[in-house]
Amino acid sequence: MAKRDYYDILGVSKTATADELKKAYRQMAIKYHPDKNPDNPEAEEKFKEAAEAYEILSNAEKRAQYDRFGHDGMRGGFGGGQGGGMNMEDIFSQFGDIFGGGGGSPFDSFFGGGRGGSRQRKGSNLRIKLKLTLDEIANGVEKKIKVNRLVNADGVTFKTCSTCGGSGQQKKVVNTMLGQMVSASTCSTCHGSGKILDHRPAGVDSTGLEMKEEIIPIKIPAGVAEGMQLSMSGKGNMAPGGGVAGDLLIVIEEKEHDDLKRDGNNVLYDLFISFTDAALGTSVEVPTIEGKVRIKIDPGTQSGKMLRLKGKGIKDLNGYGKGDQLIHLNVWTPKKLTSEEKQLLEKLRDSENMQPKPEKGEKGFFDKVKEFF
Ligand SMILES: [Zn+2]
Repeated sequence: MAKRDYYDILGVSKTATADELKKAYRQMAIKYHPDKNPDNPEAEEKFKEAAEAYEILSNAEKRAQYDRFGHDGMRGGFGGGQGGGMNMEDIFSQFGDIFGGGGGSPFDSFFGGGRGGSRQRKGSNLRIKLKLTLDEIANGVEKKIKVNRLVNADGVTFKTCSTCGGSGQQKKVVNTMLGQMVSASTCSTCHGSGKILDHRPAGVDSTGLEMKEEIIPIKIPAGVAEGMQLSMSGKGNMAPGGGVAGDLLIVIEEKEHDDLKRDGNNVLYDLFISFTDAALGTSVEVPTIEGKVRIKIDPGTQSGKMLRLKGKGIKDLNGYGKGDQLIHLNVWTPKKLTSEEKQLLEKLRDSENMQPKPEKGEKGFFDKVKEFF
């Protein structure tokens, strides 16, 4: 689609003055403002189009370039060269100049919309470390954690802020070309909370806060990992004067398991069996995160064999099933022998059947690793 002429978009002549441009743009911006035209993509398009036209024509250099070369002269020169026009953020930030207020606020109040919002004072965040066992990580856990946080002291009372009447906003009437507009900003007395300290008992400082120990229950989802940070909003320090409380950030640490190692959602275990058990076959108990499990060792099992216990791993954090437990089988060679054992083994050594004879195509270590990971 061919781009429309910037002068046509704003409905002004090629000789329009800066004031005429500004006035034309204001009218377009008010007419097509998204707050006034919710869910109307056509209006949004017009709104953006007008913003782009004004952006170019209000800049003497860009306007001269546009007059000489048209839209071709704008390529690469506008909006950092993306050629995609302006985004809404840019447009709203431009309003400060157009409407003569601080930022977009006069415009916000003109439409009665809540864009921007007040910057209410917020309490500081708290950060704690939480050590979890592999079992807790595997299935998720509910913990009660002790936290020292700043909370409103006992006996502290608040009253409505008289500066803003409890709204948290200070309104100022601004005279503009479009008539009077109301500009709103965060109340400087109560910092947006709408309340101020009324009474505080002796020993409580002017913030009205005191440090208290609190027990906070928290649900840890299964599958969290070392270094992850969970956030509980509003469980950090409270803000002085009844503002919004900060957040409680919980940093996960993994406690090492005696036997099992974690690898993503899988659990790894090294199993050692004797040469005789490997040769004759047996059954052994192995630890898992859900307790002990008995597994069968086939006669003639080779060292280095990998076994998989399906679903005995860790629940995926995003709900994509469960990992497995992988068992790496090691045949243990005795390091010390009695003379009797020695004699028996020497007898065995002479037997033809004791010589290593890997079967053709028997998988080596690298193939096994590929198969399992
Ligand atoms: Zn106030």
